[in-house]
Amino acid sequence: MLTDGTGGNNNGPGNSGDSLLEELNRDEENQENTGLDDDINTDDKQAWIDIQRFMGEKIDIVAMLSILDVNSLVEEMFSSKFTGKNGDYHGVGIWVLASFINHSCNPNAKRYHIGDHVIVHASRDIKEGEEITLGYFDVFSPLKNRKEMAKNWGFDCQCKRCKFEDEVSAKNEMGEIEMGYERGVDVGTTVYKLEESMRRWMVRGKMKGYLRASFWKVYSELFVSEKLMRKWGRKVPTMDVVVESIVEAVGGDERVLRVVSEGMKRNGGGGVLEMEKVMKLGRGVYGKVMKKQALRSLIC
Ligand SMILES: [Zn+2]
Repeated sequence: MLTDGTGGNNNGPGNSGDSLLEELNRDEENQENTGLDDDINTDDKQAWIDIQRFMGEKIDIVAMLSILDVNSLVEEMFSSKFTGKNGDYHGVGIWVLASFINHSCNPNAKRYHIGDHVIVHASRDIKEGEEITLGYFDVFSPLKNRKEMAKNWGFDCQCKRCKFEDEVSAKNEMGEIEMGYERGVDVGTTVYKLEESMRRWMVRGKMKGYLRASFWKVYSELFVSEKLMRKWGRKVPTMDVVVESIVEAVGGDERVLRVVSEGMKRNGGGGVLEMEKVMKLGRGVYGKVMKKQALRSLIC
């Protein structure tokens, strides 16, 4: 969301938070009679308009810093690793086009940086006409944590997933599951209770993926533990089923990919079909820019 830094909601384009663009468009309209040569390209023209405007006005530093704060993109850890920089390196900058992309807790895109470029790629299948969205924060966290992170960003998330989880959180069983999660109760019990509750509430399709992504931490701990899987394996859905529903709902993630590839290694490498599935998951995490061979060596 390219915003003026004063908050606003994130319900798609055209909301109050998009006022910076509207302002720029208005400026351009107002400047029609300034006699600028038509040969000057649009960027140059816009820069000239901005200079004219700022020369005559007092610059509001606070507003400007707020714009930078909310619209700057921070280079993620993955891109630092990908380009071989040291782990704690973080780049920050403004990429105007990428700043327009709104947040969703069921995002369909991811971004990373190579040099001065920001690359946005699909992280799951996208329907025709569906808005491209990114996760501004970790969407593999429970509703409560996501609400806090959204608040820090200055918005109240009203995405489909948050609305659904808001309804579910009113149920008593959900309160117990959340409490167990926070207190670090046996992860198998938490997963089992959540799956049983979803069955009773008749949760279907993507909604299952939403809740499983919220509790990914306990699912992943369960799936990587041979001891726990011996105890709970037959009572809970398989890792394949869980991963597929999560990826379909909220897109690929490096952590999911790691757990899946570890599982595959444990089972002796997996067949062609399994490998294809993991490669698809890998493309959702890293994008198509990652060569097949490189992806294979990263996963296997
Ligand atoms: Zn949300």
